Amino acid sequence: MVVATHRPSRVLIDESAIYNNVTHAVADLDDSSALFAVIKADAYGHGLLRVARIALAAGATGFCVAVLDEALGLREAGYTQPILVLGIIEPQYAELAAQHDIAVPVAERDWLQKAAKSLTGELPLKVHTAVDTGMGRIGFTSDADLRAAADYMQAHADKFNHEGIFTHFATADSLDKTQFHQQATRFNQFVAALPVRPKYVHVANTATSLWHRACHSNIVRFGVGIYGLNPSGREISQTPYALQPALSLESALTQCKHVPAGTTISYGATYVSAAPEYIGTVPMGYADGWLRRMQGFHVLVDGHECEMVGRVCMDQFMIRLPHAYPAGTKVVLIGKSGGKEITLQDAAEYAGTIHYEIACCLSERLPRVSI
Ligand code: PLP
Repeated sequence: MVVATHRPSRVLIDESAIYNNVTHAVADLDDSSALFAVIKADAYGHGLLRVARIALAAGATGFCVAVLDEALGLREAGYTQPILVLGIIEPQYAELAAQHDIAVPVAERDWLQKAAKSLTGELPLKVHTAVDTGMGRIGFTSDADLRAAADYMQAHADKFNHEGIFTHFATADSLDKTQFHQQATRFNQFVAALPVRPKYVHVANTATSLWHRACHSNIVRFGVGIYGLNPSGREISQTPYALQPALSLESALTQCKHVPAGTTISYGATYVSAAPEYIGTVPMGYADGWLRRMQGFHVLVDGHECEMVGRVCMDQFMIRLPHAYPAGTKVVLIGKSGGKEITLQDAAEYAGTIHYEIACCLSERLPRVSI
């Protein structure tokens, strides 16, 4: 993907916010826990290598990513810390993961048998058994299958190092703790079913680390908190330390025109000016991840909330301005302007989604600039 550096649309990343968020989370850990920075999906749109560097400086000691390629990208960039891939990889890549000392999850014994064919035994593959306690995504669902997998690894210790066991909570970010407790209980049963307790036993994402602090986990898989976002959206406002949002998004007007009443704007001519209006054009669109469903939301220009009028195009959208502004005038999509603020949470609520999705959807075409 080409990065559009000759255009005023860009994502600004506040490095000190990331540093502070990780520092607070590390200070909040109990003595036996380590923080692994979850930097999948280009660090939730914030830049994989940038966030890796800052997270380590702030006290993280390992990384979690979603796919093998992200882990390989970290190794290629020279990171030697522990890395855990969170999603199942194809068994034919087991040797590649082992060669790069990358830990992977296993959710079925069959996978181990297939992976064993690719493993040379030169370096054992680090494995974290995933157990499904109620997320319904990946993981063993029966104690017997988990035990069989653990026995298989023990019998093939030249090829496998059963380094960890983990689960993922579906509702750690919710005020209702019922399902959380059911999952925690089920997890403890799984751990008890193992013949040998692995080095890492872990359950905590950001929400678990913030709101279920008694829940023991010797790796905290800290994701969205790195970026200063509250995992619950607005459901639980209280956090043990302040989270500082790291991402803002800005652009600048490429044109401003005065249009008479009855002027149609954008594809489908769905917006018609009710009176003479000032219409500004912003060079960003759904190809940048600013989705069509943002139509009707607002941006900030000089402290004014300006509605996005007409359909969002692939690379541009239009706004209604209170008066004329010259081309080049700053437009804030996420961030502050003149005492007003638009947060990722605001944008997510408008779009009927969660802030994670808005951040991850900001495309690679937008330059990421550290501030
Ligand atoms: N652990 C697992 C297995 C995940 O899938 C994720 C993210 O989706 C995380 C941890 C991090 O979650 P969060 O960003 O909510 O901290």
